Order: sequence, then structure tokens, then C-alpha cells
Amino acid sequence: MSQKTYAVAVDGPSGAGKSSLSKRAAAAFGFVYLDTGAIYRTVGLAAKRSGIDRKSDEALKNILPQVQLEICYDETGLQHMILNGEDVSETIRLPEISLCASDVSALPACRAFLLDMQREVAHKNNVIIDGRDIGTVVLPDADLKIYLTADSRERARRRLLELEAKGVETDFDTVLREIEERDWQDTHREIAPLRQAEDAVVVDTTELNLEQSFEAICMLMEEKLPVCRKS
Ligand code: C5P
Repeated sequence: MSQKTYAVAVDGPSGAGKSSLSKRAAAAFGFVYLDTGAIYRTVGLAAKRSGIDRKSDEALKNILPQVQLEICYDETGLQHMILNGEDVSETIRLPEISLCASDVSALPACRAFLLDMQREVAHKNNVIIDGRDIGTVVLPDADLKIYLTADSRERARRRLLELEAKGVETDFDTVLREIEERDWQDTHREIAPLRQAEDAVVVDTTELNLEQSFEAICMLMEEKLPVCRKS
């Protein structure tokens, strides 16, 4: 009989801190961390490179057979995305790819293409998996569901700092506009819109710093799962 694995679903809008907090919590508990946004970003990049209409399900369906996606982890546990043999982990973080990801993620062909890939990782490992529809669609039976959110201006402030640290030139209003546009697209799409699962615990990080947010997640994991921190 296969051993029981535990899954923590972390959903929420962009810039709420899902990836950094989930990555850190996964390392602390010895779980695998799966950033599903990175997978959607990779499909968004593939669509951009092929020059198709990124809002057309039919057009995306046509290119998907040529899109080979792989998820790899390096020795530090960092997730890398490989698109047709090329490591695109850095490229998919460019701001212009965010909206491409949001566009393709609204298409049924894209979501169907990625569903099994996400479930497979979850069923084989103890995982913390972050995204928009993990607790509602991908893993409705997740052992713990967290809805991580924060005020949009605070999310824009954090995202701007991140982009500036990477040397990307932009400004607060542009980042805020992009975040609000993505929030709207992600919550209003027909399939798998971003929404809080009924049984999710809400963690609002607007007034919390990184350390306090991290503690909130670790405490929930310790409370709800038979696991303890390794570090
Ligand atoms: O999390 P991140 O900002 O990297 O995600 C990029 C985009 O991918 C999101 O704006 C969203 O449209 C899409 N996405 C999704 N479902 C997920 C993860 C991401 O639709 N599980």
C-alpha cells in the first residue's frame, strides 16, 4: 500500500507572498514545493513565442503538442521550469509574461493540459502547492487549505521592491495596474476562477511582515497535520 502523503494548498492573488512563504515552509517541514504559477507562466511564454492569439483556446490547442514541459528541482530545492529543453526559470519572471500566463490560464485547453501534471506531483510527495485553484479544483481533498491574501496596494509595493532588486525598470502605478488587471482576470474567468475554498483558512498578510506570515503558515501546518518542523 502506498504511504499517505500530505498536501497543503495555498491559493490567493498575485503578490500575496504565496511563493516565498510556501517555499520556505516546504523547506522547514521537508515537503516538496510546487509553484503552479511557474507552470502557467511557461505555457504563457510558449504561447508568446509561437505568436498565437493568447485568448484563443483553439490556437493554444494547436501548439500544445509541441510544448514539452518539465519541472526539475536543483540541489537547493529550487524549482526550475524547462520548456522544450531550455531552462526558462528566469525568463518567465519578466513582467510581460505575467499577463501572458493570466491570458492562457483562462483557456480550458491550458487548464486540462496542466491538471494531471500538478496532481501527480501532489500524490507522490508531501507537498505545499501554490496557485489559484488548488484548494477548489486541483486538490479539493487537500489536508490543509490556506487562502493567502493582502491589500492590492501592499502587494504592488512588495512586487515593485522585488522587481527593482532584479534591476527591472518600472514604477508603482504600473505594477499596481498590472496586479489589479490580473486580479480581475483571475477572479472573473469562467473556468477555475480564483476564489477562496469554503474550508480554507484565510491568512491576510497586509499588516504582517515576512517572518510573521511565515509563522502563521507554520502554526497552521503544525495544528492541522501530524508533522513537525525539521528546521
Ligand atoms: O502565481 P503567478 O503570479 O506566478 O501566476 C501567474 C498567472 O498564472 C496568474 O496570474 C494566474 O492567471 C495563473 N495561474 C492560474 N492557476 C494557478 C497558478 C497560476 O491560473 N494554479
